Amino acid sequence: MKIVKSVREMQNLSSQIRLERKSIGFVPTMGFLHDGHISLVKESKLKSDFTVVSIFVNPAQFAPTEDLEKYPRDFDRDENLLITENVDVLFYPDIEEIYPINYNTFVEVENITSILEGESRPTHFRGVTTIVAMLFNIVKPDIAVFGQKDAQQATVIKKMVYDLKYDLEIVISPIVREKNGLAMSSRNVFLSNQERKDALVLSQSLKLAEKLIHNGERDFSKIEKEMNNIINSAVTSTLDYIKAVNLENFIPVEIFETGKSYFILIACKIGTTRLIDNLLIKIT
Ligand code: AMP
Repeated sequence: MKIVKSVREMQNLSSQIRLERKSIGFVPTMGFLHDGHISLVKESKLKSDFTVVSIFVNPAQFAPTEDLEKYPRDFDRDENLLITENVDVLFYPDIEEIYPINYNTFVEVENITSILEGESRPTHFRGVTTIVAMLFNIVKPDIAVFGQKDAQQATVIKKMVYDLKYDLEIVISPIVREKNGLAMSSRNVFLSNQERKDALVLSQSLKLAEKLIHNGERDFSKIEKEMNNIINSAVTSTLDYIKAVNLENFIPVEIFETGKSYFILIACKIGTTRLIDNLLIKIT
């Protein structure tokens, strides 16, 4: 596996690969890799000839009050995991390479970014779309793989790709969970033993929602109440939001309609760690 740190070198390498008529699959990450990230890598390997993974903890998507400084990092471990997966290139730029002094350009998707995660983290998506747009210009992928774990992020990026006419395909990969249901996240490392137990309320409440819908419930306010009870049963939990939304535009819905698909989304603090999880559900 080749490690590339320079933007120019990555661009030249990608141009070369495209000249060879090989397709490039791309997986952007912030590192501290887990099986969720690895599932995206496997998807990229399946769907393309040449896989590039990036590791860059992007300051632009963290608010000053958030956990940029303490975001977990372990480059050697990440490198070994990616070698095991036969990744072709690890793009690992320094911060100055991406945001030199006097960096002035930002990419912003409107509307969908002002609700849910965007409401709780007002500058977050601007940071995400800026780095992803830049990485697309550096890596020049044919496909880019994102996780359903960050469902709103994936939808925002799809919208950016559509609006800005990027010539590439966005692939969304399902959520990878621990055996007990906890959605894998780099931030899970912050959880104490008690908090790890409490964090299960996120996936448990989504499971309950799935069951209630399966049993015929179509009124989300009733489902939300039951989900709330589960979330509140954990001593260390502080709910941010529970919402059901349309897949395409993330507009909240109250009554589920037959034949349509929805995301049910949760954001919740466990202790001081903010976690998100979601369920993609088709009403049959
Ligand atoms: P991050 O390193 O947290 O920025 O995540 C990089 C990519 O991995 C994003 O597309 C995430 O949605 C995806 N991802 C994170 N956790 C999971 C998971 N548990 N299952 C699937 N994909 C994930």
